[in-house]
Amino acid sequence: MMKAITFNINDLVRENVATLKPYSSARDEFKDFDKDMVFLDANENPFDNGVNRYPDPQQRDLKEVLAKQKRVYSGQILLGNGSDEVLDLIFRAFCEPKVDNIITLPPTYGMYKVLAATNDVENREVLLSKDFEPRVEETLNMANKNSKLLFLCSPNNPTGNSFSAVCIQRLLNGFNGLVVIDEAYIDFAENESWVSKLSDYPNLIVTQTLSKAYGLAGIRLGICYASKEIIAILNKIKAPYNVNELTQQRALERIADMSAVRKEVSKIIKEREGLVKALQEVNFIEEIFPTDANFVLARVDDANKRYEQLVQKGVVVRNRSTQPLCEQTLRFTVGTPEENKRLINALKEIV
Ligand SMILES: *Cc1c(COP(=O)(O)O)cnc(C)c1O
Repeated sequence: MMKAITFNINDLVRENVATLKPYSSARDEFKDFDKDMVFLDANENPFDNGVNRYPDPQQRDLKEVLAKQKRVYSGQILLGNGSDEVLDLIFRAFCEPKVDNIITLPPTYGMYKVLAATNDVENREVLLSKDFEPRVEETLNMANKNSKLLFLCSPNNPTGNSFSAVCIQRLLNGFNGLVVIDEAYIDFAENESWVSKLSDYPNLIVTQTLSKAYGLAGIRLGICYASKEIIAILNKIKAPYNVNELTQQRALERIADMSAVRKEVSKIIKEREGLVKALQEVNFIEEIFPTDANFVLARVDDANKRYEQLVQKGVVVRNRSTQPLCEQTLRFTVGTPEENKRLINALKEIV
């Protein structure tokens, strides 16, 4: 089912953002690089070292490749310094401090809450169900006219599961603000990305990242897919050169070799399955949760104790016990075959 066509993004954008005139950089004002031109407009050092020029503020080459890959228009893409920057831009564009609110569904990624606090925006929390699915009615009932954003992390961090498509669809149809689906782990999942549904839902924003499956956490590249209207609004407030030249180059190189990316992803998924099997043999592990991501969440008898014992054996995992519904849980990231062996051996020695 498609979203009612009554949706109007201009009803959601902050007034100061709607009226602001964006900064226009030298590279915005003149970009016909094909001609034989001398660029004396941006106060750069003219001596070529590969990065003496400002980067393309619109990252056109990178967007063109991504647009083809994801079957969207370049105008439906915004790139940022990690998805964390992208998420912050979404807050700043749509959430009026002290007035608006967002809805998050814990246990989930901690940045939504931190960004809400930094932007002085109320964070309304609705716990996931026991099997870590969104509770649709409760979530929609939590919304009022100032609810601008609903964050759905699918596959969810730290639980690992993807949310059911039916739940997500009901939320997209029932929520009057923007629904942000954080797909940081989508490449490890079997279900299809919601990017393919952008034309059905004018209130949908999908974020992805090169930090996980693509193995480029160090370059900081986050991606936002949405309608052209939403992207145009975010573009008004982003810093002109928010994605640096080195990042753009490394991202292009990596995306040009998708078979290498896919190979690593399938290795990680295979390792994940082996890890789940091995965890099932560990006597202090009580429950292993289904995962569509590159990590496994498991409930143990005593998370603090097991965490410390693993550290003693040289293996650092994440204790997620402070998160609601995640009492006594550890989150294991899938490593290389050698790293996973070390983890499994350490777990066996503890037993
Ligand atoms: C790791 C992660 C990200 C990635 O953020 P970047 O800033 O792109 O590195 C985003 N969302 C979730 C849920 C994550 O776990």
